[in-house]
Amino acid sequence: MTTIQISPARLHADSSLQAFQTFNRTVYEAVNNRDFGILEMACRLARYASRVALWVRKAEMERTGYHLSMMLSWLCALTNRMGLSMEQEVATYCVIELQSGAPIAELQKTFAARHTDVSLERACLCLAEKVLGVASELEYYQETHEVEHFRNMAKRMAQSVEALLVVAGKLDLSLGEELARYFEGGCNHCHRIPCGFGFRTDKVV
Ligand SMILES: [Zn+2]
Repeated sequence: MTTIQISPARLHADSSLQAFQTFNRTVYEAVNNRDFGILEMACRLARYASRVALWVRKAEMERTGYHLSMMLSWLCALTNRMGLSMEQEVATYCVIELQSGAPIAELQKTFAARHTDVSLERACLCLAEKVLGVASELEYYQETHEVEHFRNMAKRMAQSVEALLVVAGKLDLSLGEELARYFEGGCNHCHRIPCGFGFRTDKVV
């Protein structure tokens, strides 16, 4: 009998957005399907966005790389739940010629070059606006099931990716490196692939 071996997804500093989305699916899809509704997922996203805003306002940014990494993780989880490709949505709504498989670092450089005159504080404000827009459009979509709100939600998710990469750039963080730091071994909590821990209370500081 032949045993088929499937290599577990591994994340590296030069991983692409697509790779991170696939990684997220492999690690978290089962536990997220079991434990999280889409509005709860959007709430997790908002929770990390509020932490980014708080610690930037207080000029204590030691944990911001972690918070931004968790935000991208929840954005990818939502993208997976909605059956979308984050890479495609970013290419469409952020109007960027994005080669499939391009490292996140490359994307970060491109977005940084677009927003050189934007301050860190304004970049955080933009990030909060886009993330709250995701939650708002998700709720509209749940209420109406209108495709317009579905597309608006996808647009806000793509714009959230751009905004968080801009914030990372303003902080001189490489988001690709930050993601590898927290997710290289699998789930950032239990370090398994897939996550074997289940529901996470995720008390955020
Ligand atoms: Zn886990």
